Amino acid sequence: MSDRYFENKFQDYIPSQSPIINEAFIKDLIRKYVKTILQNTDPGKYEINPRTRGDIYVGLAGIAFLFLKLSKSSMKDEYPSLELAEVYANAAKETIYLSGIRKHISLLSGNAGIFVVSAAVSKALNKSPENEIKSLLKGMEIFENPEYLDDGQDEMLVGRCGFILGLQFLNRELNADVISSDAMSELGHIIIESGRNYANEKNLSIPLMFQYHGREYLGAAHGISAILFSLLSIQLNEIDVKDLKTSIDCILALQNENGNFPSKFNKPDEAHLVHWCHGASGVIYLMAKAYKVYGEQKYLDSCIKCSELVWQKGLLKKGPGLCHGIASSGYVHLLLFRLTNDQKYLYRAMKFAEFLVNKIFLQEARQPDRPFSLFEGISGTVCFLLDLLNPHESEFPFMHVL
Ligand SMILES: [Zn+2]
Repeated sequence: MSDRYFENKFQDYIPSQSPIINEAFIKDLIRKYVKTILQNTDPGKYEINPRTRGDIYVGLAGIAFLFLKLSKSSMKDEYPSLELAEVYANAAKETIYLSGIRKHISLLSGNAGIFVVSAAVSKALNKSPENEIKSLLKGMEIFENPEYLDDGQDEMLVGRCGFILGLQFLNRELNADVISSDAMSELGHIIIESGRNYANEKNLSIPLMFQYHGREYLGAAHGISAILFSLLSIQLNEIDVKDLKTSIDCILALQNENGNFPSKFNKPDEAHLVHWCHGASGVIYLMAKAYKVYGEQKYLDSCIKCSELVWQKGLLKKGPGLCHGIASSGYVHLLLFRLTNDQKYLYRAMKFAEFLVNKIFLQEARQPDRPFSLFEGISGTVCFLLDLLNPHESEFPFMHVL
């Protein structure tokens, strides 16, 4: 028995005529989770204090993101979703003044993410997102300082990659370019230079590498895979493109036989985690995007290997969430469904949703520190369930592949 995941006892997919998606079951579960989220976090009931987190990862902006998503779903009429999104986004903005050290470009754990979500909510409400965008773009001055953070200045949670993914998300939400494509290319080039300098300094065999607290992570949360993922949507110069592709291929070469990727570049034998943050469930987004951009079969093969591993080892004991829980794994099946149109993956995603109410999961899975949040808690799980109702447009938050 593993201490990281529950054994997957589900029968794998056998083609049949019966519908794969049990809509009634999913909707009931969504209603149950949303009720719990509102009961425990409603900013109208709970006062903002210096300990309140406003960020996307575990704070109020993450819950605003969920209600924004709900407002675009088939369940939108069951809740005043957009109004709720605005209430949470406004409450999140109040925390900005309480957390001075976070006045930087952090998408998932800082102010940038709060402005990104607030701007998207304003736009959805037909209000001008101009103020939020102005505040967001102030972060670009910091972005251009080559050493603005000692640690992790390029990764997704606090660094430049997150800022870029936030801008790319806003471009789609606003249906307009928040910054010009030339300015975006410039930001991409700054990241590539940073990775190139680090790789040269350490004399590494890969053209680009990045560090977070001195560690060369590969996973999506702190590592190179999300950084390179963000760069694949940006117009870059020829030399940068070459180094980007070579670096992706170096990472691909690290995928082991069972389909996983090590957590760190310099420790290829340590590949125990199958999470979005560390391991195959996060690196898969880079391979999927590379498949879309370059059209080479090897990247799709890599995604399939990741997904087989997730089917075996993805019923995670760490809870229901996006970062290292059931939703992290469920989204891998949904991504494969989108890449291949194979019903098997939809079936697997449905089984993972069913596991959320399994007695063993309810009794033995760990309760996250922030149980209602987007990345650790059930807000992220609701995103996964909403996408299960609309799988052709499913998308892990901020990881736009197709
Ligand atoms: Zn995690």
